[in-house]
Amino acid sequence: MTTPHTAGTPGDHRLVIAIDGPSGSGKSSTSRLVATRLGLAHLDTGSMYRAAACQVAHRGIDPRTDPQAAVDLVATADLRLDTRPGHDHVVIDGRDVTEEIREPATSAKVSAVATIQPVRDLLTAMMRRIVEDSGRRIVVEGRDITTVVCPDADVRVLLVADPAVRMARRSAELGGGVDQAQMRDQIVRRDRDDSTVSQFASPAPGVTLIDSTRLSLEQVVERVIGLADAVLSRR
Ligand code: C5P
Repeated sequence: MTTPHTAGTPGDHRLVIAIDGPSGSGKSSTSRLVATRLGLAHLDTGSMYRAAACQVAHRGIDPRTDPQAAVDLVATADLRLDTRPGHDHVVIDGRDVTEEIREPATSAKVSAVATIQPVRDLLTAMMRRIVEDSGRRIVVEGRDITTVVCPDADVRVLLVADPAVRMARRSAELGGGVDQAQMRDQIVRRDRDDSTVSQFASPAPGVTLIDSTRLSLEQVVERVIGLADAVLSRR
């Protein structure tokens, strides 16, 4: 059994770390490592939008011509995620989409679902429930976590990097074999579409900007952990 604590008192172990950033900024690797080292849960909110997009396509719904059908699907979907860092299992309506959500075809169709505001509202409510269920000990990554989902997070970071570096990282992640046009679509076009509903190009007030263009993953992780340590030592 855990002892209830009040935020801001000594012995308060609650720690919500919100990390936003565009695709290829390194936020997933950073979030996973920070969560592992600090013993926190990890929520990749992009995987929730990806799972929703997979299920919308699976049911033959075109979100552009029938956004309401996409909203209805998300409203009733049984979405299950494993929030242990490194256990990135995602199941929607009984279908394991862990691998499908990472396919370039999914990256190409996810923004069409993620830009439907009622879909965002439904998933935002689900994200906040997951944060509470973790006992507020979690790293949450996405596009609008510092601004909309958890504006009250203890640590709020916007992780950015030059587009050329982000494309190179994504290409390496996919093991090469992806053509330049597909890569531009995954990075540049997706940023443009996503930025119509969330603002992740510059940090909101109180959000720490980390530019990872010239930093190693380890350096970024250390900076985030440094911010968390500073919060904990002020309690
Ligand atoms: O981070 P990732 O590339 O996996 O995100 C996939 C997509 O999910 C983004 O392109 C965006 O459309 C959507 N997304 C979002 N808000 C979040 C996280 C992801 O709109 N908080």
